[in-house]
Amino acid sequence: MSSDDLPEILQSLKTHLEYAKTCGINYFQKTEDHSIAGSLNKQSLLDQIREELGDCTRCKLHRTRKNIVFGEGNPDAKLMIVGEAPGADEDVQGHPFVGRAGQLLTRIIEAIDLKRSDVYIGNILKCRPPSNRNPEEDEIFACMPFLKKQIEAIDPDIICTLGNFATQSLLQTKTGITRLRGKFHALDGRKVMPTYHPSYLLRNQAKKRETWEDMKMVRAEYLSKG
Ligand code: URA
Repeated sequence: MSSDDLPEILQSLKTHLEYAKTCGINYFQKTEDHSIAGSLNKQSLLDQIREELGDCTRCKLHRTRKNIVFGEGNPDAKLMIVGEAPGADEDVQGHPFVGRAGQLLTRIIEAIDLKRSDVYIGNILKCRPPSNRNPEEDEIFACMPFLKKQIEAIDPDIICTLGNFATQSLLQTKTGITRLRGKFHALDGRKVMPTYHPSYLLRNQAKKRETWEDMKMVRAEYLSKG
């Protein structure tokens, strides 16, 4: 190596640091144990993403929300579950899926012999749309980068998307859930299984059978990951 190589080395270091930053890794930010190994830990990556989100005002939902619902669960989860947006209960409590739909989701998770604490649960939007209206384009656009960073930090093998919005937003498609469910879709080296949203299942009990079919495939894939 000669001093002539220095500009090129510095440029590739800069490129690497910028890339790491987009993944939520900041080598220069001290973590509690002040070690680089600590900062690479998945939980500390999630903490950094939460910190970057801050008291978010990136979209209009901040005016009506009570709490940001960041997401929660096992930072090392093999399975991540992605819903649409917080409802009234989640907005008050600041945790995902804690209302009636959440209780059904817990039973669905337990039906494949997992616990809520085994998986990580997040949403496309981190703030409640007023009166539970559908998420709007600008809100999805503002919020999605944070979910993407959470996915990169946790690095799950499988993502289960619940309902049309979560599925279409993550897979970037306009195809409906009825056609997408029942098979895995590839996303950045992960397997995405779309299934019905638990709120929909509460209104359409007959669709539970298909959800069970989807979840059995998720279970088989989960077990194959050791
Ligand atoms: N519905 C969702 O999509 N997410 C929640 O967190 C709660 C209800």
